[in-house]
Amino acid sequence: MPRHDFKCLKCGHVFELELPAGHQEEVKCLACGHPETQKLLSSPNVIFKGTGFYKTDARSKCDSCGDGSCPMRKLAEEKTKHE
Ligand SMILES: [Zn+2]
Repeated sequence: MPRHDFKCLKCGHVFELELPAGHQEEVKCLACGHPETQKLLSSPNVIFKGTGFYKTDARSKCDSCGDGSCPMRKLAEEKTKHE
């Protein structure tokens, strides 16, 4: 199943879930259970296009807290490498 990254709109927690194609149900935050989450476009092979845009720039700050040294940012980069 394809994996998707989600970000909680309440607490900002970013997590990854495997969902079947065409999944329409809401995804609850794994950290706080909040039902409003945003699906993140995380596949570098798809969105890596256009000149002057680099995936690493998009990941230069943590999705959750905006801190460049946040450990969650590093986790996201690790996931990107493996995909
Ligand atoms: Zn949450």
